[in-house]
Amino acid sequence: MTRDPRYDILFEPVKIGPVTARNRFYQVPHCNGMGHQMPEAHAAMREIKAQGGWAVVSTEECEIHPSGDVTPYVEARLWDDGDIPTLALMCEKVKAHGALSAVELTHNGYTASNLYSREVPISPMHTPLKYGYPLQARAMTLHDIREYRRWHKNAALRAKRAGFDIIYVYAAHDLSLAMHFLQRRRNQRTDNYGGTLENRIRLLREVLQDTKDAVGDTCAVALRFATEEFLGEEGVHTAEAKEIVHHLADLPDIWDVNVASWYNDSLTSRFGAEGYQQPFTSWVKQITNKPVVGVGRFTSPDTMVRLICEGALDMIGAARPSIADPFLPRKIETGAIDAIRECIGCNICVSGDMTITPIRCTQNPTMGEEWRKGWHPETMPAKKSEKRILVVGAGPAGLEATRALGQRGYEVMLAEATEQLGGRVLKESALPGLAEWRRVRDWRVGRIDPMPNVSVFRGNALSAQDVLDIGVDAVVLATGAHWVRNGIGRSLTEAFSGHDLPGVFTPDDLMAGRIPESGPVVLYDDDNFYLASVLAEVLVAKGLDVHFVSTEDTIAGWTANTLDYRHIQKRLRKLGVHLHTGKTLGGFDGQQVRLDCVWSDDVLALPATSLVTVSMRLPNDSLHQELLARQGEWAAAGIGQVQCIGDALAPGLIVHAVYAGHRFAREFEADAGENGDSDGVPFKRVRHRF
Ligand code: ADP
Ligand code: SF4
Repeated sequence: MTRDPRYDILFEPVKIGPVTARNRFYQVPHCNGMGHQMPEAHAAMREIKAQGGWAVVSTEECEIHPSGDVTPYVEARLWDDGDIPTLALMCEKVKAHGALSAVELTHNGYTASNLYSREVPISPMHTPLKYGYPLQARAMTLHDIREYRRWHKNAALRAKRAGFDIIYVYAAHDLSLAMHFLQRRRNQRTDNYGGTLENRIRLLREVLQDTKDAVGDTCAVALRFATEEFLGEEGVHTAEAKEIVHHLADLPDIWDVNVASWYNDSLTSRFGAEGYQQPFTSWVKQITNKPVVGVGRFTSPDTMVRLICEGALDMIGAARPSIADPFLPRKIETGAIDAIRECIGCNICVSGDMTITPIRCTQNPTMGEEWRKGWHPETMPAKKSEKRILVVGAGPAGLEATRALGQRGYEVMLAEATEQLGGRVLKESALPGLAEWRRVRDWRVGRIDPMPNVSVFRGNALSAQDVLDIGVDAVVLATGAHWVRNGIGRSLTEAFSGHDLPGVFTPDDLMAGRIPESGPVVLYDDDNFYLASVLAEVLVAKGLDVHFVSTEDTIAGWTANTLDYRHIQKRLRKLGVHLHTGKTLGGFDGQQVRLDCVWSDDVLALPATSLVTVSMRLPNDSLHQELLARQGEWAAAGIGQVQCIGDALAPGLIVHAVYAGHRFAREFEADAGENGDSDGVPFKRVRHRF
């Protein structure tokens, strides 16, 4: 396949100070939960992006000094020369594929808690720490400011020695000293570094100049800058940002612009569509002569071309689209547009950083497994035999198993009970705000369709007898799960009284269009992730009065890990949903719901004619159980293996189902050690050397 000439413009080289990017695709910095603790894994992940055609591949935040230690979060680190080799490894691997490597140097000021280094945190003014620790940062003296500049310069010199081509000054996401000095609310100093805008910009200007003086002969200096914080006069806002850009216009070699904080920058698809940042960043190019890179979850090459042609951006920045598809540029370059695995905007990738674990991705199950399992997003090992495989169920687990086994060359039959492929993804993507999640299904169906070795049977609800009659070598059961009605879950271990009344609904009911006719409705959430908040929107849209009851002390608590939390809080309040926290379900009589306080004997009786419970799911594993009961008949039917995967084994998120399908396909007939495993540990680990 060849490139569509419409996209030629995306493959023009871009000069960035003393270096040149081979095309306009720029992987902006992104966290990954591996950082300095898993350097081989980190380098392998970045290498695959370079191989996939990105012209620039960046690190995540890179700490420059122990007084800016972001532990427990695991980012990159350049505190002293001993940290150089781990990042040199990344530079070497990225360069081997013709890409430039970039490092996002930062000192996080009062957003670094120094839990590991035990240094006293620093900030423009005395202030409590922002994240998770009851400690204060002290106001920096003029000596501290000079020291900070020296640390930054030394880190830049180390970065140059590590082999980086682009070195960042970071003033974005409300996360760095350079930004904290810009912010009126954080910087009320009375010396030359505070007060007027010119004074607040002083430190950023100095650090940019220091960096250029130190490394600018061979390295480009990038400025990552937040153009809007959405806090009105309190924050950096567009009018002020314009003045800042005017002041610094051509000082950086490239402007990397976005909105702040991270929860506004990495909006989930539920709260923002592709290109959502354009109104806030497209003006930057009118002020500077230097190239501008910006983000907005870009996955469509047509959108990318439009942004370049309209003069909004010079380079297409991407974090999540490069995670979901590290080969996105190559696919555009080779005309394989349909093969692009588009990010769905679910932010499971972000949850890796938040939970301090290696990054994973709903769309790309190989993300984070490049080194420890040797998985590659585009290639699969060839089949080892002529064995035939039956996959039962076409949800995310079954579709991915089918696709990946098909890619290996095996003969695969996929049987789906309904006429539709997609399972839970199809149902959930029909809910308000989740339409992009359908891409999990669409990409896989699009890959499977042309495979001559894969047959798809829709409308085929298989029984155990059917499976035995088909008589394949291996059977994969991906039959999904269903929500319970009885409220049992994290909080309740026994069914609540009244769970069998007609006014009780489950998420499956609502997704099947069986929605309460009358209110008030109590929406009981013991799941504490996204789904109940989405169902609240469904109920409100039906004109119902909704009482959202959480068993936790907050609403949708786990969504803090996907950056949805604040947006959900605001939306539910805006929709007029009544919020109740710290309550469990005591009972329902068709007229009212009894709620028990989790901290006391208090009871709240809410008038309600309907109750929706979101507590837990149970596997649809009856087919598995029946086949296990008939194990004695497998050999005669030719069946050597039956494996249950995904929600049918243990209900989880879509990311878990996709991973399970992929893993089955990778491991099918694999030799010991082929997936990085050793003596039962299914992946390679970082070893300390003694
Ligand atoms: P997962 O997330 O594990 O992939 P889903 O619930 O999304 O699970 O998908 C399960 C799919 O399996 C659904 O589309 C369902 O219709 C299908 N299914 C369940 N039981 C059978 C069966 N006995 N035969 C064929 N398809 C089945
Ligand atoms: Fe996109 Fe979700 Fe993958 Fe993150 S986890 S890159 S948001 S698909």
